[in-house]
Amino acid sequence: MDLEKQLSEIETMGNDHVGSSGDTPLRAEKIASIKKDVTHILETLGMDLTDDSLKGTPSRVAKMFVQEIFGGLHPDRKPKASTFENKYKYGEMLVEKNITLYSTCEHHLLPIVGKAHIAYVSNGTVVGLSKMNRIVDYYAKRPQVQERLTIQIVRELQEIMQTEDVACVIDAKHLCVNSRGIRDIDSSTVTSEFGGKFKNPETRREFLDYIKLETEF
Ligand SMILES: [Zn+2]
Repeated sequence: MDLEKQLSEIETMGNDHVGSSGDTPLRAEKIASIKKDVTHILETLGMDLTDDSLKGTPSRVAKMFVQEIFGGLHPDRKPKASTFENKYKYGEMLVEKNITLYSTCEHHLLPIVGKAHIAYVSNGTVVGLSKMNRIVDYYAKRPQVQERLTIQIVRELQEIMQTEDVACVIDAKHLCVNSRGIRDIDSSTVTSEFGGKFKNPETRREFLDYIKLETEF
């Protein structure tokens, strides 16, 4: 059912909306509630919500929070843990680098934009390459701190592949630093988490050398 319809049904049905949607009634409730909160914030700021340009803003922001930028709070959205047997017996490091990352700083609710680089050494199990992008995206779509995000990505892959040998480096700009406060447009923040074999300086060095490679495509 389309969301506008779900929302208007919830509004007209009050608390008697059990079974009104086979899809995601919980999410629609969240959206309706956040919509009221955003309305309150904008009105408190003195905005005129009857203006054409602003009247859709509360529901637009509420949908964006619940479905997009904080969609990773919904456990149903967690990427499925499908793995494959490592048939070709590739026993070296696999690196997936320059994974685009959009997250939100939980201290200011401003964007974090950057790149994640992930490596693992298979112990017999491999995951599809796009799975790593999806895991990054799932944990990024929450109010986050970069340190926690880095650790969550590593733990999830360790769990899926049943190996400690997973590492992640994230290099990201925090708009709360770049666009307000100290307004340092050039600074970025690097975090890393090295599991298992990646605690070994040589293995760690190999990974860090790969992510420095500037391949032209
Ligand atoms: Zn911040």
